[in-house]
Parts: sequence; structure tokens; C-alpha cells
Amino acid sequence: MPRRSTRQRPRKTRPWPIVVAIAASLILALVAYRLLHPATPPNPTVSFSELAQALAAHDVKELHVNAGGARLVATLTAPRTISGQRATAIEANVPPRAVTLTDLQQWSTRGVRVTVDDAGPAGAVELLIQILSLVTIVGVVIYVVVRQRGAVASARFVATPPSRHLTLADVGGAREARADLSDVVTYLANPERYRALGARCPRGVLLVGPPGTGKTLLARALAGEAGCPVIVAAGSDFNEVYVGVGSRRVRQLAKRAREQAPCIVFIDEFDSLGGRRGRPNRSGEEEVTLNQLLVEMDGMEANDGVVWMAATNREDMLDPAVRRPGRFDRVVEVPLPTVVDRAEILRVHAAGRPFDPDVDLERLAQLTVGHTGADLANLLNEAAIIAVQHDCDRITNAHIEQARDKVLLGRVRSGVVVGEGERRLIAIHEAGHAIVGLVACPDDRLHKVTIEARGRSLGAAHFAPESDRHVHPRSYLEGVIAKALGGRAAELVFLGRDAVTTGAGADLVQATSIARRMVAEFGMSDEVGLISADPAAQGGPPSAQLQGEVDHAVRSLITAQARRAESIVRAHQRAVEALAAALIERDVLTAPEVHEIAGAHGVGPARLTA
Ligand code: ATP
Repeated sequence: MPRRSTRQRPRKTRPWPIVVAIAASLILALVAYRLLHPATPPNPTVSFSELAQALAAHDVKELHVNAGGARLVATLTAPRTISGQRATAIEANVPPRAVTLTDLQQWSTRGVRVTVDDAGPAGAVELLIQILSLVTIVGVVIYVVVRQRGAVASARFVATPPSRHLTLADVGGAREARADLSDVVTYLANPERYRALGARCPRGVLLVGPPGTGKTLLARALAGEAGCPVIVAAGSDFNEVYVGVGSRRVRQLAKRAREQAPCIVFIDEFDSLGGRRGRPNRSGEEEVTLNQLLVEMDGMEANDGVVWMAATNREDMLDPAVRRPGRFDRVVEVPLPTVVDRAEILRVHAAGRPFDPDVDLERLAQLTVGHTGADLANLLNEAAIIAVQHDCDRITNAHIEQARDKVLLGRVRSGVVVGEGERRLIAIHEAGHAIVGLVACPDDRLHKVTIEARGRSLGAAHFAPESDRHVHPRSYLEGVIAKALGGRAAELVFLGRDAVTTGAGADLVQATSIARRMVAEFGMSDEVGLISADPAAQGGPPSAQLQGEVDHAVRSLITAQARRAESIVRAHQRAVEALAAALIERDVLTAPEVHEIAGAHGVGPARLTA
């Protein structure tokens, strides 16, 4: 059977109403002009002095004050030849409102019949015309804007035809998600079979996971696998301040989906559309839009071939009505990839790229703990770009290493000039992080220490988790806080209290945020105890007393780890000093180099390096 063409062209704005409106305005303006300026042969225009002379010489029998007093038209007693033209009347311009009642009386006493233009009706007509023209212009502008918005909105919901090139084989890892979604593929590929057996496919599937884990990719791959179109929208497409626009777009989307069925409708960033109703900062218009979506989903027949998919990383923000059976009732988790998943994702993105035989993707997967699919795709792409820049025909380990540095630490800012004094401060700060990290946080793997200006920082001691971890013990989190405070501790020990720098700003943010979660979420503070300060658990914002206790416990936790970091630096002062000196000399130290220096000064045992 020939496949129906699924490509939808965006609706074009038809220009004829605009043309008609513009033509109507022009005709109106012309008519008005004709009314106000009847087509009589023009009189010669002379200077006011000439006209005054004619008046003084009694050559004028009638004087007409025109155009609101700005023009005088004098009918002559006898025709004159002016500039080769025979004229029975002459005209002269005067400043507006210059003619006074005294002038009129003077001219009348000389026997001139003086008439004054009655500006009333003409002025009214002119005003009416101006209002009409303004209304027409405003109307045309509003019409064009509304039509264009409509065109943009309908262009948003264009169905992407089934791309046979994008299938589940293009999705690395995510095996649980793929297994959960296999019945959706079977249904979309053959909805009749479900109908015949009275089976009901899930109406809506909610993909939940951190950004970049491949939720959009999964939806597109499902559509490709089932050979049906996919319509992609974003939750923010429906957020409009104009009344009724959001719900109209939902209706447009549902209509487009019915036309394309069997198909997938995928709504990304779904929390901005399906957020909890009645929340303080949620507008009435957003609630109407969500209601419209629920109505559209309810209104669809069970097996009409439309599968709604939505992605969010804030499942907790969703309105409970969204998750009701018959709506988004299937939740599929798309978590951060494991080491096996990462290796698969790397293989997907490595396909078609020439790699040096030395490149070991399995090893790279081990070194990229915490990376999402998007991060891994980006990493290999950066490596390919670096290979091109180096004019190589293969991607090597060195290119991947440079790409990793660029992604993790930021691009080198060669334009930043740092003086010798500042280089020493930065070197001491980073050496402090490195040594405290090696001692207090032995479960993390050191990657590199640098005092190069990269990204937004002037230096970094980069550690990465050694392997995938799903739970973190208290001792590990305390070690991470100590490591974050190691830079400031080294400044205190080597430079003194008055010379500490602003370099610890971001470290304090990191330390405070971990400490707060330990206290308020994970029950890791003896002072606060096993109580959660999460608003969901408290049924609203926590009480002022609990908040105060949390703040106090956070401060104690950070102070204890700051002391610990300082005592580690004091205990390994020579190691920190040696590391700082090496950094000043070489700018960048790899993990083996750091371990060698640290080991030589009694910091050990040296760990496996990245
Ligand atoms: P967000 O929540 O920010 O919208 P997302 O979870 O929808 O992100 P995608 O947009 O699907 O993530 O992924 C971005 C890109 O990352 C994909 O185009 C793909 O190149 C790569 N990617 C992510 N996950 C995978 C995966 N599992 N396999 C292969 N590539 C992946």
C-alpha cells in the first residue's frame, strides 16, 4: 500500500485581506482629499505684499480667508496677467492664526466682501478620516501579527515523517526504558491487532530522567522503529500570556495528531505544561491550557493510534491529574547511563568515525562516570573537531584527552594574563584542593590539576568518581566538603587570615549545598535528627524553628570540615608547597605527576590514576 505523505506544510499567511485593507485605506484617504480640496484650477500664488498692495489699491472685490486662516484668496475687480497667466483671483499664504478680527474689519470698511472658511464640517470630516485611517492601520497590524503567530504555532506542530534511519539501534544503553516501551512499538506498528483483541495500549508515557539522557531520542527512535510520524512540541510552546492561545494550541496539536494517526506526540519539558494546578506562581491561563490537554486526551478513543509521550526531569512538579490512568499512566525512568550503557552510547556515536586502533571506548566509559548520553556525544564530537584542527585523519587518544579537558575544565583562555603573584596564590589554592582531596576523599579519582585559565576559573583540581555510585555514605560527603574547602585551608596556612582570596567563592557554594542536603534531606545531622525539611514532607515551607536548626547544623558541619581541611594542609604542608611549585613551573599536572610529588612527601597511598 502506498504510504500516505505525512509531511505537513506550515500554513501560509494569505495576503489578500491585507491588500484589501490597504486599498480601502488608500481609497478612503483619496476621497477625503477630494472632499477637502475640490478640483478647481489653481489661482496664482503671490506674496502677501502684492496681495496687500492690491487691497490698498481697491483692486480686490472679495477676500476669502481659507485653510483655518493660513491662506488668503482675493477675487480681483479686473483680471490681471501674472507670470504670463491671466488670473481673476490671487492667493497668498500667511502664518496660521495671523489674521485677526481687526484685519477683517479693516478690509470690510474698504468695501471688500470678506468671507471666512467654515472649518467645522471639513475639520470634522478630516478628523473622522484620520480616526478611520488609524483604525485601519492598527487593524491591519493586529491582523498580520495574529496571522503570523498562528502560522508559527502551526509550524511548531509539524509531523516529522518516520525516519527509518533513526531506530532503537541508535539509542545506546537505556535497556530498561527500551524494554518498557516495546509494546508501544508493537501497538503503533499494528494498532488493528490490539483493536481485534480488545487490548488497550498505554495512552500516555512519561519519560523521567536528568537532562541529556536521551528522552527525546527515545521518542523519535520509537516512532522510527514503528514507522510512524512523530510530532514534537515543548511544554513552553503552550505558555502564552494571551487568553485562549495556549488551549487553542493544544487543540491544534490534538487535531494534527488525529490527522497523522498512528503517530507519537512528544512533549518535551512537560512540567511547564503539566505542572501542579493551584501553585502560587501558576497563572489561570496555564491551568486552562492544562485542562484542555486533559480534555483532549480523555476525548480520544482508546485505540485511535495516538500515543502521547512527555519528558520531564521534575516529576514531582506534575499535577496528579496528569498521571491518572488513561492519561500519562506509564512512567519510564531514563537514568544516567551506567558504565555498560556509556560504552554502548560511545559505540553508537563512534560509528562512522575513524579512530586510532589505540582508542579504547570501554576504558573511556569507565572514566566518564556521571556523563549523560548528550555529554558523551559532545565529547566524541569535540575530539573529532580537535582531530580536524590538527589536520589528522584519525581520532586519537590525545584528541579525546584534549576534548575531555575542554568539556570538564573549559576552553583555555589564552588571552587572560595572570601576574606572578597571582599565579602563586592560585597554585597554593589548587594544591590545597588536590592534597586535601587525596587524603579526605580517597574514593574519587584525580584527573588533573591546573592553573591555566579555563572556562570561568583560573585553575582547577579535577576529581571524578571512580565508579558508578548509587548511594553515598556520610563519610564520603564529608570528604567532598573538606576537599571543596581545601583551597581556602591552604590559603589560610600559607598566606594567613588577612590574605585569603575570593577564589573560594564557588567552593563555598558547593560545600554549603552538599551540607544543606545532608542535614535537611538525608538526616545526616545528629543535631537536627531524622527529619526532612523538604516542603513536600513538611506540607509547606519548614517552620522557622526547623529552618534555624538546619542553618545551625549546616554551619557546624562546614566548620568541622574546614578545620579538618586545615589540619590536613598543616600535616602535609611540604607536599602542598611542592605541588604548588610544580604547578607554577608546569601549569598543568597530570594525575601520575601529582601522585609522584604527593607520594614523595608522604601523602599516600597513591591511587590508580585516570
Ligand atoms: P532534555 O531533558 O534536556 O530535553 P533529553 O533527555 O531529551 O534531554 P536528548 O535530547 O534525547 O536528551 O539527547 C541529546 C543528544 O544526546 C541526542 O541527540 C544524542 O545525540 C545524545 N544521546 C543522549 N542519550 C543517548 C543515548 N542513550 N544513546 C545515544 N545518544 C544519546
